[in-house]
Amino acid sequence: MKIPFHAGLSESPPGRSLLLVTCWLFGCLLSSCAPERSEELHEFTGLTMGTSWSVLVHAAQLPLTRPRLQSQFNTILNRVNTEMSTYLPESELSRINGSDGTDWLTVSTSLMHMLQAAQDISRLTQGAFDVTLGPLVNLWGFGPEQDFAVPGEEHIDAALRLVGYERLHLDPAASALKKANGGIQIDLSAIAKGNGVDEIADFLERLKLDNYLVEIGGEIRARGVNDKNIPWQIGIEQPVAGQHGVRKIIKLENMAMATSGDYRNYFEKDGVRYSHTIDPRTGRPVSHRLASVTVLHPSAMLADAWATGLLVLGPERGFNLARQNELDAYFIIQDDEGFKEKFTPGFKPYFVNDNNNQASQL
Ligand code: AMP
Ligand code: MG
Repeated sequence: MKIPFHAGLSESPPGRSLLLVTCWLFGCLLSSCAPERSEELHEFTGLTMGTSWSVLVHAAQLPLTRPRLQSQFNTILNRVNTEMSTYLPESELSRINGSDGTDWLTVSTSLMHMLQAAQDISRLTQGAFDVTLGPLVNLWGFGPEQDFAVPGEEHIDAALRLVGYERLHLDPAASALKKANGGIQIDLSAIAKGNGVDEIADFLERLKLDNYLVEIGGEIRARGVNDKNIPWQIGIEQPVAGQHGVRKIIKLENMAMATSGDYRNYFEKDGVRYSHTIDPRTGRPVSHRLASVTVLHPSAMLADAWATGLLVLGPERGFNLARQNELDAYFIIQDDEGFKEKFTPGFKPYFVNDNNNQASQL
């Protein structure tokens, strides 16, 4: 089913189990809430990285024909996918993961760009964000196999021995990487959608388009104004599985936004919910009461990585780290009565001032 984004709802991706079809990765909803579409609002949509993408451009005239633009977007996203997908056996990343040697391997500059960002966020989150988690992502069934299972202790311990961002060495000048252990498997799912958003947004900027919104699976970057000549309005979702209620509306101007949550991609076994976000310290899905984290950052790629890292760290450590790093971040935490929220000082100006937005700052 496809529902137009500007009606304030989101689209489900194809090809997932029922749980994932309804629950995949929508930490936020686009809600420009425009009852009528302006002639100047151009919308493009498609599918990539197991989810949907959409681009809204507000412009009197497009610099290229619509089919040409659509095909450029597809080309950019296909390129990103053929570099970093673990779902495509012939992708660059799959080839790196398939090589069990420990020699230096040359990689494309765009993959290196993503890996460097990933390693930076790993250092800043003291390893809570870790793209070498591949063996654990697969073990819990969140990899390409989508074969959910609660693994035994010994399997978790064995996978953990292959994990650790410090075991992945990068030489950016030579655009090369080296695994300290041949079994290291890289999973860029926590940063790739943000990177794809940046690639499309940068392309639009090269075309001198000033008013746009780019979204892949809920990760967003926006610039300028919408067809009402106001900044793009985005809804932050209630972190409830199977629902798409908007909790807060924020305005996004020349900024990117990413949300990570425990409520969209998970499986349940014996009454326990197992989230796709894995804590590299335990090798297990996170189990605290932080339901979602939304991060604003000029780079969608970094917003994406930070949101995942802060979600792993949880309601206190994650929030403290966000403050220390002067991030604009919004946390929704489950408590006995429902949800409570807290946000860093820099987040406040982004709230759209209406009665639905009565957030409390902590
Ligand atoms: P996101 O939705 O951006 O938070 O990314 C979640 C995805 O990133 C998961 O489906 C895993 O493939 C991968 N992942 C899970 N835990 C981590 C982690 N601690 N660090 C980096 N990637 C992770
Ligand atoms: Mg992420």
